[in-house]
Amino acid sequence: MSSSLQCIDCAQQYPLNRVIYACERCGGLLDVAHDFAASTGKITRELFDERLGALDFPYNSGVWRFKELVYPDIEDAHIVSRGEGNTNLYELPRLAASVGVDSFMLKHEGENPTGSFKDRGMTSGLSHAKGLGMTRVACASTGNTSASMASYAALAGMQGIIFLQNTAIALGKLAQGIAYGGTCLQINADFDRNMALVRQVAERLGIYVLNSINPFRLEGQKSILFEALQQMRWQAPDWVIVPGGNLGNSSAFGKALLEMHTVGLIDRLPRLAIVQAEGANPLYRHYASGFRGFQPVKADTIATAIKIGDPVNLQKAIRALEWTGGVVEQVSDQQIMDAKALIDGAGIGCEPASACSLAGARKLVERGIIKRGDTVLGILTGHVLKDPAATIGYHADELPGITAQRRNPMLRAEDDLEQIVALLA
Ligand SMILES: *Cc1c(COP(=O)(O)O)cnc(C)c1O
Ligand SMILES: [Zn+2]
Repeated sequence: MSSSLQCIDCAQQYPLNRVIYACERCGGLLDVAHDFAASTGKITRELFDERLGALDFPYNSGVWRFKELVYPDIEDAHIVSRGEGNTNLYELPRLAASVGVDSFMLKHEGENPTGSFKDRGMTSGLSHAKGLGMTRVACASTGNTSASMASYAALAGMQGIIFLQNTAIALGKLAQGIAYGGTCLQINADFDRNMALVRQVAERLGIYVLNSINPFRLEGQKSILFEALQQMRWQAPDWVIVPGGNLGNSSAFGKALLEMHTVGLIDRLPRLAIVQAEGANPLYRHYASGFRGFQPVKADTIATAIKIGDPVNLQKAIRALEWTGGVVEQVSDQQIMDAKALIDGAGIGCEPASACSLAGARKLVERGIIKRGDTVLGILTGHVLKDPAATIGYHADELPGITAQRRNPMLRAEDDLEQIVALLA
């Protein structure tokens, strides 16, 4: 089976080992295109079900279990894996009631090795870098990509170079980048500017870029849905809901669903709902305008993982919406933090951006787009420990512009037995 890089606009093809991030003819985004016709009948539910519970590398990974759909021709010796994926799918009746549907599931990608879905893209992207013989990798990051890249680069013995923005890096993510030995470079610019800088610096110095502009990252991230569908016994839900920032995950989801349908793993396509923060909503605006004249925005939201005003994967995300009859929704920071408190209080927990899945689902139900009887799969993108300041600020009701609706306030007492007993009686 052969794969190649292919431009999503003009279909120009390039060999997999070319180090390019955009089409040389027209500037379009690149896909890793697989020739599934050659493997008809070989990519089956049984193949992947037999590998469940595997103890050995590489099939113990929830990404490489689906190797034939992710990177069929990679040499095992090049795979850099932490056994990522294998995350839980939670069926949550109480949250379903609050969303207003009968069946609501959350797949928790915060349960990956570094606490976000970025690990699924990092194992595929960084393994490709290893195959290319790269020794230095780099990314611009709102935090989770850098945490993941630093970890996987350390594991592979490579140098990981992190371009951090000037403000609003969640503390847990920053700590990880430093702890895993990344070369951390804080630049006085926002994420969107850093994204442009990292590409220019990487080209000058021959460093491999591991942002989601890199199509090999998205191949690994497809496995979020491969695994979710396997957990659902290959019965497609009506909706898949995902937070949208740089739109890499949304893009990967479109490709994953289409490919699963092409090879016959699922017999119908769910609809994709991409949810953005109101303060970082360029796709939402573009969608609402009927996709005429895209305008980037200056991003501002408490959900720092999606604080992105000029998403690099825009065209792929639009394609994913077209393929799946998808929709785009926006939610306020208030709605995000109240939804997070609901998810956290259910014992599951997530970082702010992840809560867009629940807040967006609820809004789509209110607007009559999602129906009560629909089955809904939401993605939690990151772990509750990533952004402790947001969580503590919320429950102390100290977040600017937000009135905490679901506070779990701290109780306080003196060193006084009677007072404590009275408080808890
Ligand atoms: C990266 C990230 C996102 C946004 O994903 P995109 O692929 O950039 O749209 C959302 N939530 C978390 C926790 C993330 O780390
Ligand atoms: Zn092209």
